[in-house]
Amino acid sequence: MTPMVCPLVAVLLLSFPVCAATYRFAAVWDGAKLWKDACVTTQGNRIQNVGACSGTPVDLSRYTAIPGLIDVHTHMTYVLDNRVSQAGRGAAVVYLAQDNARKTLETGVTTVRDLGASEYADIAMRDLINGGQMAGPRMFVAGYGLQITRGGRGPSPNTADGVPEVMRVVRQQVGAGSDWIKMYGSTGSGRDVTGYQTFTFEEMKAAVDAAHALGKRIAIHTYGPDGARDAVRAGADSVEHATDMDDATIAEMARRKTFYVPTIDHNRYYVDNARRLNYPPKAVDDLNDYIQRNLATARKAFAAGVRFAMGSDAVYTMFGENTRELGWFVKAGMTPEEALRTATTNAAELMGMENSLGAIRAGSLADLVAVEGDPLADIDVVIHKVRWVMKGGEVVVDKTK
Ligand SMILES: [Zn+2]
Repeated sequence: MTPMVCPLVAVLLLSFPVCAATYRFAAVWDGAKLWKDACVTTQGNRIQNVGACSGTPVDLSRYTAIPGLIDVHTHMTYVLDNRVSQAGRGAAVVYLAQDNARKTLETGVTTVRDLGASEYADIAMRDLINGGQMAGPRMFVAGYGLQITRGGRGPSPNTADGVPEVMRVVRQQVGAGSDWIKMYGSTGSGRDVTGYQTFTFEEMKAAVDAAHALGKRIAIHTYGPDGARDAVRAGADSVEHATDMDDATIAEMARRKTFYVPTIDHNRYYVDNARRLNYPPKAVDDLNDYIQRNLATARKAFAAGVRFAMGSDAVYTMFGENTRELGWFVKAGMTPEEALRTATTNAAELMGMENSLGAIRAGSLADLVAVEGDPLADIDVVIHKVRWVMKGGEVVVDKTK
């Protein structure tokens, strides 16, 4: 596609063309507006220009371009393979998770915020992907998610009780190279949809302050309303799941511009895969009930002006379904364009990367997705009709032939 006259710049193991390449689309939704019959020119890993076409662009005129999508809640290193021994599991996980990374790219997701892993397998993956040694979305990772001591589990590097321990574990994650902090502020995960608050307000506040003091942001997981109330008041940058939030908490989120990442679809995944995951019938009822309450809370929060970011909470075999969350957002009252913003401009802002991600604009990283159909008319076009994906100026998925 690129002419052979391009000079190559070698950086460590990588070389990439620095010459410009131009792509023609039926339309380009740049994150804010729609350009009809437009071209995007890339230069190296950045976008150089969006606008009218000239010269002989690469023909993608059957498709509409949207920015590379951002999934702000994944667990890329969660793999279902019980043949892997506990000793050495971290290394095996990094190998097996390549599949999750590849499937994620195929959905048009070129960046993820990965919220919790063991043995820093997430940091290893992030670095291999950044180094060009593994195919996958750009990863921003959290290392170990903080948890309180709970019965039945031995001590683990992520356990913290009380303010000093919370501060220590946050600092350990940052020291290890994490980009984000993740805190489990309530019970609830997998088939367990209880939402008992775990960390206190004081502990959450300590985690937020320790993260922010080191220039990092923090996501607080809470299945129930009590943890959400305290996570918002403690200053969390995003609140995950958070079903049954009361009106005061929702109003406070809108006022503080706290991002809501409801992750409705991951429980749909658990319902669909209940057999494979050995969930009892009761769990399916609980999950379905939770999904409805989660959707109702999302609807209320959106109507109240809370900002949303798209997070799949993908684990195991859910990769490849990362963007199905957008369908729930439309059910919660968003237009397809508003839903798209949760996975582009809003998500980039949550990451603090609005100048380089989430939009097709001069100077941004060249992350582009070509979809077949009109994504502003039908969100299913984004979910099911991704045909071509570019990440950092490189074509990583091509199903146009
Ligand atoms: Zn999660």
